[in-house]
Amino acid sequence: MTPLAALLQAEIAAKGPLPVAGVMAAALHHPRFGYYAGSEAAATGPLGRCGDFITAPEVSQVFGEVLGAWCVRVWQAMGAPRPVVLAELGPGRGTLLADLWRTIAAVAPDLADAARLHLVEVSGALREQQRSAIAALAAPPRAVWHESLAAVPPGPALVLANEFFDALPVEQYVRDAGVWWQRCVDSRDGVLAFSLGLAVDSRERPDLADLPDAPDGILVERCPEAERLAADLGARVATNGGAALIIDYGPARSTPGETLQALRHHRPADLLASLGQADLSHHVDFERLAQAVTSAGGRAWGPVPQGLFLGRLGVAERGAALGAAAPEQMDAISGAIRRLVHPGRMGLLFKALAVTPPMAPAAPPGFGR
Ligand code: SAH
Repeated sequence: MTPLAALLQAEIAAKGPLPVAGVMAAALHHPRFGYYAGSEAAATGPLGRCGDFITAPEVSQVFGEVLGAWCVRVWQAMGAPRPVVLAELGPGRGTLLADLWRTIAAVAPDLADAARLHLVEVSGALREQQRSAIAALAAPPRAVWHESLAAVPPGPALVLANEFFDALPVEQYVRDAGVWWQRCVDSRDGVLAFSLGLAVDSRERPDLADLPDAPDGILVERCPEAERLAADLGARVATNGGAALIIDYGPARSTPGETLQALRHHRPADLLASLGQADLSHHVDFERLAQAVTSAGGRAWGPVPQGLFLGRLGVAERGAALGAAAPEQMDAISGAIRRLVHPGRMGLLFKALAVTPPMAPAAPPGFGR
């Protein structure tokens, strides 16, 4: 049993079964035993080639570079406001940030000058890695860290989030006997197991009133924190100007079924047996995110499959330029780009969603036909 599982056992004994979202939040963020906060992350870092999973910016520098170029074009289309907030949600090891910043500093020094860097990160261990990544830049920008987007100062902003929404706590509901039940984690004979908690009461949770009529046995996931955040982004850019770019994995339309998964050393792990020692993530519901953006007064674009999006931003051309400068690395570079864009790899399941003010004159780069 992991130390976190022992802790949760005691909590369940005292208070009863814990909802799945609470277990996920503890598994990722418990101050001592959580995956992102705990010693594992501090020692080796959970992300990247040696970690438990590998994200797009860790696959190739071209990912951050084309997103840097995206920021430049969007900023110019906004009328080049200065200062402008440049924010990243969950920057991980700071790799995307560093690649993006290098590009911005090279192609648009006026944006590098105008940008105020704000990073939203809860993990102390990862904040340290982000600090080092920034310190290693040629002219390190000043950065300010925050616990949440709400703390990032207002004003025109460019906000990026890669594989951030998939890590926000997901709730699960199961249909049984014609009723929706909250899925929980309980302790049975000293072992953690999934169980059904209370029936959904839509007077207490009006946001669940639209759970569909479904046959028994169907499981539905909801991520209210992701929807609130999408709404905040929509409201923020509608009020202050700017744009947000959300890249993550999941279907374009809301789909029932369980997607919450644990990954350890690049392999699926038993979620309840690896609490605090494996990464947890779930499919992002882009349809609900887009609705949240729109209801908050913003405009949602996409989602566009990552392969198409990166292709439109010129990832192949950027790869060719890198390869021409370092021919011995050509194969590695094309292999990495293939991994990012091929439909069978990250090209189709991963998607990009952009958020702009409602009256945006044109589609953001990568979102137009
Ligand atoms: N964007 C990075 C890392 C993705 S992992 C990349 O693409 O490589 C998710 C990141 O979000 C980590 O940095 C994690 O610590 C952070 N994170 C997860 N939940 C968070 C929350 N609720 N608030 C702030 N940061 C969070």
